[in-house]
Order: sequence, then C-alpha cells, then structure tokens
Amino acid sequence: MTESKAYRILLYYKYVQIDNPEEFAAEHKALCNDLGLKGRILIANEGINGTVSGTVEQTEKYMEAMKNDSRFADMVYKIDEADEHAFPKMKVRARKELVTLRLEDDVDPLELTGKYLSPKEFFQQMQDEDTVVLDARNTYEYDLGHFRGAIRPDVENFRDLPQWVRDNKDQLEGKKILTYCTGGIRCEKFSGWLVKEGFEDVGQLHGGIATYGKDPEVQGELWDGQMYVFDERISVPINKKEHVIVGRDYFTGEPCERYVNCANPECNKKILASEESEHKYMRSCSHECRVHPRNRYVAEHNLTEEEVAERLSIIGDAVKA
Ligand SMILES: [Zn+2]
Repeated sequence: MTESKAYRILLYYKYVQIDNPEEFAAEHKALCNDLGLKGRILIANEGINGTVSGTVEQTEKYMEAMKNDSRFADMVYKIDEADEHAFPKMKVRARKELVTLRLEDDVDPLELTGKYLSPKEFFQQMQDEDTVVLDARNTYEYDLGHFRGAIRPDVENFRDLPQWVRDNKDQLEGKKILTYCTGGIRCEKFSGWLVKEGFEDVGQLHGGIATYGKDPEVQGELWDGQMYVFDERISVPINKKEHVIVGRDYFTGEPCERYVNCANPECNKKILASEESEHKYMRSCSHECRVHPRNRYVAEHNLTEEEVAERLSIIGDAVKA
C-alpha cells in the first residue's frame, strides 16, 4: 500500500481473555500516550476494541507493540489514511463487556458465532433469494448508509436487537441470515446469539463494512450511502463503483448525508440536516428542543428572544406567550 497521507486511523478488535482489565487499561493508556496516539479503546475480560489515530510512524509502532504480545499477535487492523488526528484525546476504559447485548446468558464468540464470510462471499450470498440481510447497527448508522435491501431493525440501540429478533421472527424463519456491522465486532456476538436462538444458517461479514469497502474485487458494490464512523470524520465512502444517497434531511426529506447533533444538550439526537435546514430549524429536532433554555444553537449565534420567536413563527412552531 502506498501511503500518501501523513496520518492513519486504525480500527481493530480481538476477543481474547484479558485478566485484570483495569490494570491492563492503565498500562495500555500509558503506551498510547507515549506513542502520541488519540482515540478510544475499550478493554474487558473478553478482549479489546479500539480505534485510534496517529502519524504513520506512531501507528506502526503501536501495531508492532501489539504484535509482541501473544494475545494480540494476530489482531487484524483496518487502516484508513487521514490528514490529521480523528479524535480530540486518548481514552482507554475498562468495561464489563466489549459490546452490550443485554443477554441473560452472554455469548462467547470464541465458542459460538456465525459463519465468517469474506467480502466476495458476502456479496454473492446477499443476492441469493432465500437470504435476508440484517443490519446489526443503530438506526442512525443505517439511515446514513446500508447494504441494498438490508433490514433496518427498528431499535434505538444495539442492545435491543435480541428482543427485536424475537418480535420479528416471521421475517427471519427458514431464511439464510446475513449480518453485518462496522468492523465486525458486534456481529461476532450477535450472530452467535442468533445461532444459539435456533437459526440454522447464519453468516457474518468478516471484518465488517470497513473491510468490504477496501476489498479490491467487490469495491463496495451494493452498498448505498456512506458508512457512519465513530470519529470526527462521521462518514466515509464505501462503494467505489456508484454513490447512491439514501440519507434524508430530517426536516425536508431531501437527499442528505450531513449529520448534526440536536442543539438541545439534553437531547443531542443525531439528525441529518443540510446547512440550510440547520439554520432554519436552529439545529433542533423538535419545538421542545428549539425552546430549551440551554439550546446551543441559540447561544452560538447570540440570538435574541425576538430573533428566536421570529424563526419559530417562520417554521410554524407555536410561540409561547
Ligand atoms: Zn432534540
């Protein structure tokens, strides 16, 4: 791979036994700080899940250090080039689990998980008539981009997926099921849970959408929109052959791939909005959020009460006396 940019963003995980996650997290944070990395890493008894940014040299050194630890020697990294850091700081946290599925009995992906499919295998099986493709991410991730024809489980959060599956069994029974997520970590557990739940033919996209988008053969085909990422970039392109926009402006319904957070600090909901909509609706998802006393948009733009009232009347929000 020829490097043309000065920085890189790494995305990686490994399910592997880690004793004393707290202690390991503290040591690991020191290592990352020494190297000058920024990002977010979760450590649990069941493994590691991280995404960090740094210069090419810093990220090389990090991967080398991890290779020298037998637990992480075969860890796979998805590498994106970047012009700068993609995180404001370095956070390393110890947690109970790497991904939260709220299960009564947790699933150990090292013992039970769906079949691993390469991007090419996934691409082919996706087009099979008896196959359903299930997006294993949050709805705001799906809404920005997803595999063509994939089911969008109507859940606010990944942890609610098992209940959704139980409530929607008729859509899945007797079908081959394919699951996918950003880097693969959520599907390791979710596909294992599906197998445990009695679904017989369950496959998962190995390495996730991030790997799919880099595969030289499939070139991201059948992916529509962009992939949501958990760093400052927010979205990255996947499909190299065509770009179909599936995101829709929250306010106007027009095609849109620009995420903003609701300006009500207590709401903070992710909404797709053009710049025009952002200003018109004061970057707020509802009337309640628009008139919230700590609305960040109002503060950022130093809007007076009269100016707020004027905007509310333009968009037809009832103005309180
Ligand atoms: Zn809101």
